[in-house]
Amino acid sequence: MSKINRQGILDILDGYDKEDITIATLGSHSSLHMFHGAKAEGFKTAIVCEEGREVPYKRFNVVDEYIMVDKFSDIVNDDVQQQLVDMNSIVFPHGSFVAYAGLDNIETIFNVPMFGNRDILRWEAERDLERKLMTESGIRIPKKINNPNEIDSTVMVKFPGARGGRGYFVANSTDEFNEKIDAMLKRNWIEEEDIKEAHIEEYVLGCNYCIHYFFSGLKDEVELMGIDSRYESTIDGLVRVPAKDQLDIGADPSYVITGNHPVVMRESLLPQVFDIGDKITETAKELVKPGFNGPFCMQTLVNDDLEVVVFEMSARSDGGTNTFMNGSAYSYLYHGEPLSMGRRMAMEIKNGIKEDRLEEIIT
Ligand code: AMP
Repeated sequence: MSKINRQGILDILDGYDKEDITIATLGSHSSLHMFHGAKAEGFKTAIVCEEGREVPYKRFNVVDEYIMVDKFSDIVNDDVQQQLVDMNSIVFPHGSFVAYAGLDNIETIFNVPMFGNRDILRWEAERDLERKLMTESGIRIPKKINNPNEIDSTVMVKFPGARGGRGYFVANSTDEFNEKIDAMLKRNWIEEEDIKEAHIEEYVLGCNYCIHYFFSGLKDEVELMGIDSRYESTIDGLVRVPAKDQLDIGADPSYVITGNHPVVMRESLLPQVFDIGDKITETAKELVKPGFNGPFCMQTLVNDDLEVVVFEMSARSDGGTNTFMNGSAYSYLYHGEPLSMGRRMAMEIKNGIKEDRLEEIIT
């Protein structure tokens, strides 16, 4: 199927009443601060919501229009798209939107104007593309081990589709790698043919910081909007267990995200934070035009050499932005008022309308 026609999207945008724009998204993930922020900036809001999931949006009263669907993936249905376009909607993407709408559909059949670069979403989803972007930008990432026989220090092993950390494991030697692979085969967590897909990388012993950036296409500048740290089961539960019992009950820890907490970094690390943001956005401009646009997140571990090592990225609003519904220490410094990521996104749309440059930040 052919890719979404850019001119088609621009024509739809052209037909919109710019005085009556609606900010729309799927009711999940990080939509609360998107809706709240859009309303704070004077926009109408519309939710596409699965039956039974509407309670938070009603209780928090952040949504004007409800498009109720049987299942979230119905957001790509023609009638839902038409309703969105009829409301002059600009869609704000987030993790659940990408998961339920589906990357292929976003690239080929979802004909509603979206904030950001819809082409860059694939670059976070495919490990090879993600690694290419990170490698070419020259930021510090975990070293890759190409062959299990070369394991001579602690490594993290990841399988495709194991995102969210279920099925990740740590190994210290080739023997241990083989033992753990056998155990996974026995539990039917992986199939024989998955083994060659194992991605093996340096285990970075350090603290977790997920850095939320906003790239303003209008200002051509990266802003630091906040930093959160992940709360992951079972690994974070394990540290509450006495050491003598950890081996028995924690033999196969998982890294399933269950929540986030706000953090700040040592001030002396912030130059690295801005450097990472600047490098990755410059490289993205070359590799996947027009590059990052709006929110993105670099998931990092900081080791005791004070290196900020990036092990993962999100090319859209990250779930950790929920930590800052009322702004973070950093977004406060920038804007002098509590500002969520959602509100920053809405501000960009508002500025795009004011400067008559909306087409530069919409795909
Ligand atoms: P991910 O699914 O990539 O977000 O990873 C889930 C969790 O696995 C992370 O939050 C980290 O705690 C851990 N992790 C991932 N990659 C590494 C690595 N190279 N070294 C140490 N821990 C890692």
